[in-house]
Amino acid sequence: MGDARAAAGTTGTARGPSLIVDHVSKTYLAHRGARVAHPAVVDVSFEIAPGASVGLVGASGSGKSTLAKMIIGAERPTAGRIRYGDLAIERIRRRELRSLHRRVQMVFQDPYGALNPMHTVEYVVTRPCVNFLGLSRAAATARAHELLEAVGLVPTAQFAKKLPHQLSGGQRQRVVIARALASEPELIVADEPVSMLDVSMRAGILKLLATLRETRNISLLYITHDLLSARVITDQILVLNEGQVVERGETKHVLQHPTHEYTVRLLDAVTTSALRRPGSGPA
Ligand code: ADP
Ligand code: MG
Repeated sequence: MGDARAAAGTTGTARGPSLIVDHVSKTYLAHRGARVAHPAVVDVSFEIAPGASVGLVGASGSGKSTLAKMIIGAERPTAGRIRYGDLAIERIRRRELRSLHRRVQMVFQDPYGALNPMHTVEYVVTRPCVNFLGLSRAAATARAHELLEAVGLVPTAQFAKKLPHQLSGGQRQRVVIARALASEPELIVADEPVSMLDVSMRAGILKLLATLRETRNISLLYITHDLLSARVITDQILVLNEGQVVERGETKHVLQHPTHEYTVRLLDAVTTSALRRPGSGPA
């Protein structure tokens, strides 16, 4: 384990095993009413070492969310293996999902849809502290307040009693991130965590994810269609086009020397608009 961490250039305090995605494909049999089988992910392989931060970048429909769903055991691959330590995620059983989700948490694109409108912020963050960590109600509540502070929702006493509709999109995403941290996960899969947010809030949320990842030694799979935002938060990136990895490497290197024509197009699409929005670069 120590050797693997050293080889990956990560710190010795990184937690958890490597995530191994090995020749994974997914073909949806029923493609929204169509009769033809539709390949959403085609023969994708990569690894996330403990403590590493990997970006998965591609245009809409390139298969990013399908990969994310397979990694958290919500969809099954048509072919290939997904391993997380002893867990064979490609054929995980329902009763093993709980132990996977204690260790691998997800942050979704839509912070509106991810929160139950009837649940207070405190309830949302306290519940996984009870369920996953087995804390008493009082200890879980105290921990929930610590987590709210960690994601910048201060004063926590004020935010704790609020319902989702009383929060901004950025604040809701902070609640979702606090909930994801509750089980002390080793890996977070963040699927376009800022793309539905107001442009002014994006840099703050990305910076928060980057800080939390470093201070808590969490590995990250950061999914985005915005190649430039990957620069803020990832060390390595994979570029996905129509379900296939067309380019991969160190984030800085790929951004400076994209080799695939699709990567160049993705980069062109975001650099043009980034020039007009100062909030989108590294804060
Ligand atoms: P992305 O997240 O990169 O936008 P997705 O993984 O959501 O891409 O989708 C990849 C492809 O798979 C798209 O063509 C999409 O229409 C298709 N797809 C996604 N989910 C389903 C589903 N449940 N059933 C059928 N086709 C799907
Ligand atoms: Mg998606």
